[in-house]
Amino acid sequence: MSLDFQDLHATLLNLALAESYKCVPSPGAFSVGSVIFLPRSPVTKQLDASGNSRTDGTEDASDPLDELYALLESFFPTLRLASTAELEQAAGRQEEPNIEVQGLILSASYSRALEGNTHAEANALTLLEQKISSLPAQLQHSVLAATGVQSEDPGASPGAVYQAILSRAWMYATMEPCSRRTSGLRSCTDAILASSLKRVYIVSNESFHAGRDSHGISDF
Ligand SMILES: [Zn+2]
Repeated sequence: MSLDFQDLHATLLNLALAESYKCVPSPGAFSVGSVIFLPRSPVTKQLDASGNSRTDGTEDASDPLDELYALLESFFPTLRLASTAELEQAAGRQEEPNIEVQGLILSASYSRALEGNTHAEANALTLLEQKISSLPAQLQHSVLAATGVQSEDPGASPGAVYQAILSRAWMYATMEPCSRRTSGLRSCTDAILASSLKRVYIVSNESFHAGRDSHGISDF
């Protein structure tokens, strides 16, 4: 049963929205939520086949996403989802729907979740980096091997593992990542561009809310 991407994106954006509800309101600051998702290979293959993907060739048949998923699945929550068509057909059959695992929720965070005037997208990245650093060294090695990253370092570099995982991951955010911070801190757009994140999905443009000259999307 093929997946309806509108269902997948809506589910993940709703998770990001739920994160935004955790924000402590702050005058003049946005309350944003963000989620980082690792899709399983059937999801990316279907996306490529749908023609909606501007693929750069890294999501081809040899992409070892399933191996990566198998390595990480006991450390991160799974996202299970059935297509709307499957739910309707199962209801017609009066049977339980076939709800398939679509991927892993690698990280979720929100504005000001971490100390300081921090942003949702940067926080989601920071939390994932911290989590990956805490994974067993052998597992980090296996992730590098599975993703084809050559590592001479027997201790493995958590930074390399983090980037290897992110290069297969998608970010969801309830608003366009900021492109300029009045505080002088690094913008979320710059943080995302410095990472190897594969895709970013957002709900709305920053300029829609702030009337600002935002260029996060165009920078991507
Ligand atoms: Zn930001």
